[in-house]
Formats: sequence, structure tokens, C-alpha cells
Amino acid sequence: MRLLSRTLFACLTLLTLTAISIGDVVAKDKPNVVVIFCDDLGYGDLGCFGHPTIETPYLDRMAAEGMKLTQFYSASSVCTPSRAALMTGRLPIRSGMCSDSRRVLFPDSSGGIPASEVTFAEAMKEAGYATACVGKWHLGHLPQFLPTNNGFDSYFGIPYSNDMDRVNDAPRGRESFWDPKVEYWIVPLMRNLEIAERPADQTTITRRYTEEAVSFITKNKDNPFFLYLPHSLPHVPLFRSKKFEGTSLRGLYGDVIEEIDWSVGQVLQTLRDNKLDQNTIVWFTSDNGPWLTFKDHGGSAGLLREGKGTTWGGGMREPTLAWWPGTIKAGRVSAELGTTMDIYTTSITLAGGKVPTDRVVDGVDLTGMLKGESASPREEVYYYRGTKLMAIRKGAWKAHFMTQESYTGNNQLNVHETPELYNLEVDPGEKWNVAEQNPDVIVQLKNAAEAHRITIKPAPSQLESVISK
Ligand code: MG
Repeated sequence: MRLLSRTLFACLTLLTLTAISIGDVVAKDKPNVVVIFCDDLGYGDLGCFGHPTIETPYLDRMAAEGMKLTQFYSASSVCTPSRAALMTGRLPIRSGMCSDSRRVLFPDSSGGIPASEVTFAEAMKEAGYATACVGKWHLGHLPQFLPTNNGFDSYFGIPYSNDMDRVNDAPRGRESFWDPKVEYWIVPLMRNLEIAERPADQTTITRRYTEEAVSFITKNKDNPFFLYLPHSLPHVPLFRSKKFEGTSLRGLYGDVIEEIDWSVGQVLQTLRDNKLDQNTIVWFTSDNGPWLTFKDHGGSAGLLREGKGTTWGGGMREPTLAWWPGTIKAGRVSAELGTTMDIYTTSITLAGGKVPTDRVVDGVDLTGMLKGESASPREEVYYYRGTKLMAIRKGAWKAHFMTQESYTGNNQLNVHETPELYNLEVDPGEKWNVAEQNPDVIVQLKNAAEAHRITIKPAPSQLESVISK
């Protein structure tokens, strides 16, 4: 009897151990993916990226436990095309999610993300993931374009920018931004396909997005999940909850960032509490650089030149963190190249999903780089404004074929017969044009641009059509 029970015990132990190890393998095979995406956050706006008075202890801890990427780019300097690139892994010109006349989608737009695109969420869902989008979508607000019709199981958020739908009797000009009141913008807050609240109470929006994200993680702790958390802020108008009023030395903008920092802390702590931290990769980045014309209500690009709306570094290089304890070595800082489109390809690959092969996908797999096993496969970065290839980066060098100084200041487009050339490793602020001294580099970059152009078959723009009245 004793022998029998011992044998039984041994068998049960073996079975349990086998189950645990199989569970571990399955879990490791399918890491959860969380993408936290800010709106108009500057390269210099976080403590861990050098801001002297904005306090971001949770993001600083995320950087200390994970990896800081110092040369990571979005695919556009404005919202809609940038988000389209993250959601499709493709340059916006390939999906038609850009335009030379209307740079983003508006509440009167009739277009949105084409059904033919394989969205990030669709690919993750096919790989067996639960999916949720919480926050700003901005890839079309009509039903067929909303997240739940594009691969997400659920959606909670403001479907476009928080400064749209401004009411007619709000103060004119920028006065309504300097002293923002919720009722000046009647933006909807949506739950799946329905409007849940209008105007959205933006003072509590970061807190409510966070609660939604935490609840999604908790509900899905036993199965693989993909959480896309695109914050509506710090895009103007700036709002924060009572708890963060007047807390930052940086003023209102600082309060907003510090609430987002708190939010990141909540998400990471929820993962730790549910013992999911070793099995979840979390990305933190932004759609484009700071909206500088809004002065102290816009952020800072730090040492980079210019901001949102431009193809200078400040418009498209983002403060980026990747966190995956046990897999990404703590405290790494990487100056290797990456883009938000690579988050698409990397995540789908890690999920065991299918990156489309019937079309050009611009994202590359950064898994080896994240694990410290190989270099980033990305060698080039393309800087588009609408359908125009304004500049190209190859290695350390960036050539500008065209420039525009700022988003709403000097709108003049300057075409350079000889491109302006900068060595971004020596001169990240793009101050010293060294074209004259490096004619051979100019030739190389022109050739690279030509080779890239051959791969482009522009899709019809989805941003130009409006809802007929
Ligand atoms: Mg933006």
C-alpha cells in the first residue's frame, strides 16, 4: 500500500512537473504584448531621456529593468499615418493612409484603414491572442474602420484627436487651449461601436484608460493577449485628473506626463502581481514628436531639431523603451535603429503568427537585437511627409532631399538640389550640413532612395474623402 501511494505520489509529481514545464514552454512561446503609445510626446520629455523637471519614476524604472532605445523612429510626424504604420507594419504610402492635402483624418472624413490591410490585431488574433485597444485610434471613426472591425475584441477610447469637434462658441484662436475646459471639445468616448459619453470627460481620460487596461490584463492573465494602449495625451488640449493637478515643476504639461507615468506604473505592477512580467513584452513610445507651436503646452524634443509635423529628428525620433524581464537584459541602452513598424513584425513573429508575405512589409524582426543575440537588421529609415520622400537615413547618415522648417510656422517646402547631409551619430541635432565634404555619401544615399522608390506603389489616399452633407 505504502509502495503504491509512493509510486502514485511520484507519478503525480512527475505529471505536475511536466505540466509546469510544458506550460512554461507554451507561455514562453507566446509572450503577451503590450504597446503603450503616447500622442505628441517629445524625445526629451522623460526623466530617463534627460528632462530636468518632469518626474517619471515608473518609466525610469521601466528603463532600468529593460532597454532604452535612443534611435527609434515613428513612420510619420503626424498622428494618422504614424498609427497606420504601427498597425500595418507598412509605410503609410503603401496603405493610402497619408495625403499631401489633409495630413490626418478628421471627424468629417469618410475614409479609414483599408480592409485589405492585415492589422497588428488581426495577425495577433489569428495567432490565438485576446486583443484590446484602449485609447486614441485615429484610423477612421466610421463603423467599418473602428478597432472592433479590425481585429480587436474590444475598444474603449476617443476615436480621433482630443482637439477635434471644437464647439463653435468656445473661445477663438488658441485661448481655448491655454485654459482648456472639457466642454470646448465634444469628442466622443466610445465603447466598441457605440458612443458611451459625449463630450468625453478628458480630465479623467488617462485614469480611465489605465483602469480599462488593468482590467483587460487581469481578465486575460491565463491566455496570451495583445493590449494596444494609445493615450490621447499629451496632445493638446491638456487635461489631467485632480490627483495630478499642480504636481509637476514643469506645469500643466508636466502634470499630464506624470499621470501617464503613473499609468505605466499601474500596467507594469499588474503584470508583476499576476506573475506575467517574465512573459510579457511591453513597449513604450509615441506617434510623433512634440507640437512646438503650442509653446509650454507642447513637449520638448531635447537635443533634436524641430518637432511634430517635420521630418527633422524632433518630428519622428521617439523616446522608446522595451521591457521584458528575464529576456531583455536590464539597463541596456541601444543606439541601434528601429521603427514602430518593427514592433508589428517583431510581435507577430514572437506570437508565432503570420507576417503577410503577399505585400511589402516594412517592419523588421528586432527579436535578436532585443535579446542581445544579434544586431538590428534595420539599416535605413525613410522620412515621408504625405507621399513625398523628404529624407533618408542609412547608418549614421541622413540626407534631406526636401525640408520644411516647422509644422505651422514656416510651411515653405524647400527642395534641395544637393541634399543637406548630417552625420546623426556626431550631430543628432542636425546642425552642421556636411554635404560638401561628403559627395560620395550623397551618391550612396541617393542610390538607396532610388532603390526604395522602386518598391513603392502608392495606394489611393484614404485621407482626402469627406462625408457628403
Ligand atoms: Mg500625434
